This record gives sequence, structure tokens and C-alpha cells, in this order.
Amino acid sequence: MAGLIPQSFIDDLMNRIDIVEVIDGRVPLKKTGREYTACCPFHNEKTPSFTVSPTKQFYHCFGCGAHGTAIGFLMEYEHLSFPESVEELARLAGVPMEYEGPSPNEPVRRKKDESLYDLLAKVDQYYRQQLRQHPQSRRAVDYLKQRGVSGEIAAEFGLGFAPPGWDNLERQLGQSAEVREKLVSTGMLIKKDSGGSYDRFRDRIMFPIRDRRGRTIAFGGRILPDNQEKGDKPPAKYLNSPETPLFHKGQELYGLYEARQALRDITRLMVVEGYMDVVALAQYGIRYAVATLGTATTEEHLHKLFRLTPEIVFCFDGDRAGREAAWRALNNALPVMREGRQIRFMFLPDGEDPDSYVR
Ligand SMILES: [Zn+2]
Repeated sequence: MAGLIPQSFIDDLMNRIDIVEVIDGRVPLKKTGREYTACCPFHNEKTPSFTVSPTKQFYHCFGCGAHGTAIGFLMEYEHLSFPESVEELARLAGVPMEYEGPSPNEPVRRKKDESLYDLLAKVDQYYRQQLRQHPQSRRAVDYLKQRGVSGEIAAEFGLGFAPPGWDNLERQLGQSAEVREKLVSTGMLIKKDSGGSYDRFRDRIMFPIRDRRGRTIAFGGRILPDNQEKGDKPPAKYLNSPETPLFHKGQELYGLYEARQALRDITRLMVVEGYMDVVALAQYGIRYAVATLGTATTEEHLHKLFRLTPEIVFCFDGDRAGREAAWRALNNALPVMREGRQIRFMFLPDGEDPDSYVR
């Protein structure tokens, strides 16, 4: 007897898996607008009325009313029990199963995670608003314009502006100790040794990092060229959220949600180094670029990418560091190579990055 599966495990699993991939592996789906469709596997039909929503993570049939989550789909389609369906999803996600007795803390934790997503949605909104309204946002807008980024692409990627100063976000959202604590646990505020806290992201262009449902789970921030901040050491050019309960660097890829929204069929995905590269390539019509977030490409990243497409192109600088990074990527990729999968390496001429090169 394996024991009970903790609700928190199921919640985490549901955050990792994608219903589109789960169903598409059994019933081939076609992308139509924001949703995916197929002829319904649960009733007989000639025109597709079975839809799968990647953002809501459920399926619905307008013909027979069949409806549910990835777990429900496996139960119906494969005639599995609830725990068997969870086990199958864990297997697909490559996550070891957890079993245990019921714990009184689990509902609390789940609620806490939900409220962290809500909070980051507010942070996201705040940064976007600052890009439009803050007296100093001109500098950020000018930078984006100079890089050729249109308002449309900026809106699509949800770009924002973290104003200069140490406590803008804290003053805007951190009215209560409880919210400040959550802002710390999502990486938005940094605790001072002396007590109190301050904004992690200051005077930066903000790139929300979204999960497969389009929820913001973290941020990347690029410093503005004329940053004036004084400190012990110069601020980093690029800064990412730290590991948090919602954000695991080794699993997430910047731009993957946006690529899936923009493309009907993903024939290939290209891994580049930075979020600015992803946005710049999208601006020039290359919608299949994604970026790792301050880590090398992990096996987990590759699993994720190969579930969506058979071809991955790694794009690197032509210098020594680029060649070394390519070698590491190749080594990480070998264990996940299978029949029909392809990886390619693209080396840019010296002194170019994808952003400069595409222009
Ligand atoms: Zn149906």
C-alpha cells in the first residue's frame, strides 16, 4: 500500500505538467487561436468540438460536455484511478512520487502559493504602469526604442520599469508585515541585516518571467545604461529573481510562454542567452527564441523543449566562452537525444549577439 498522495505534491505536479502535452501525446491536437482542438475522444464526431485550454489547464467538449483537468483526462481516457493518473503524470514530468499521511498544513501551503501568484500579478502591473507613468520612465522607453522594440512587442512581453530608489515597490505594495514577508519570499524585496527590507530591482527594465499558464513567477531586470546608483560595487547588468517557491531556474525558460502564444506550430526552438535577445528576435519576426535564466541549459530544460518540438538550435557567441557553453550544452543534451530529435549549434560572428545580429 503506497499511502496517500499529499495535496501539495499534486498541486506542484499540476504546476509542472502541461495538459496540452499530456493530451497531445494521446490525441493529436491542433492549435486554433489560444486553444487547441481535436475530434472528441469521448464521443463520435467528424468536426472537432473538443478544446484544450493551455491557460486554464482544462479540456472541454462542446459536443458531449466532457470536461476536466489533466488528471481527469487520464482517468477517462486511460481508465485509470485517481492515484494511477497522478502517478502517470509524475512519470511524464520526471518527478519522483511522494506518499504520506495527511498533514494539517497542506491546505495552508496551497493557499499561500496561490496568494504569491496574485501578489506577483500586482507587482507585474505596478512595473508596467511605471513604464507608462513614472517621470523617469523616458529613459527606459528611449532604451527600448533604441533597441528597436515596438510598443506592441513591449506589451506582449509585459515589459515594465522598476524606478530608481530603494523602496518604491515596498511603499506601493508592502503595507502590512504579512505582504512584506511575501515580497521577500518571492524575491522582490531583500531583507536587511539591520531589520527592514529594500527593493531588489531598482532602475531597471523589467521582464516578467511567466510559467506555461502565463502567470508571472519571477522577473529579470536589465539595468539602464545611464544608471547612477552608488554602492560598494557597480550593479549587475542583468539581475534575476532568486530561487523561490514559484521559480526554479533550472526548469524555466524565458519566452517559452510567449512563443507558444505566438506560434501555431513550433517547428523549432532556439536557445539564446538573454531576455533582451528573445525580445529583439521576436521584434524581427523570430518568435521561437527562448532564454535560460542565468544557468546553463539543464536536462530538465531540454525535456521541456523536446516535448514541444523535435529541433533545438543553440545560439552562442563565437568566442571561447561561447564554445565552452556550447560544449556544456551538448553534454547535457546527449542523455535526452532520441530518434527524430535534433540539436544544432549556431555560432555568431565575433562581437555580435542575437540582438545586434538580427538587426
Ligand atoms: Zn465530446
